[in-house]
Amino acid sequence: MQEWKPIIRHCRNCGAKTVGFKNKQGVVKVECPKCGVSSISRMLDRRHERCDTYAPLGMENLDEDDDN
Ligand SMILES: [Zn+2]
Repeated sequence: MQEWKPIIRHCRNCGAKTVGFKNKQGVVKVECPKCGVSSISRMLDRRHERCDTYAPLGMENLDEDDDN
């Protein structure tokens, strides 16, 4: 069983404050409620963090007018 601790992050796409979850392996998963972008980052060592960012399907750019 994996343990996920809440962690405050900022969205890499729109900059909104989001809550992500970090596990013991140093993997952080964040999903932005504002723009829908999700990111998975991993601490490779203390000074090196690798981050992958995923835009939601059908939305490659941030669109402020989209209220759906
Ligand atoms: Zn966002």
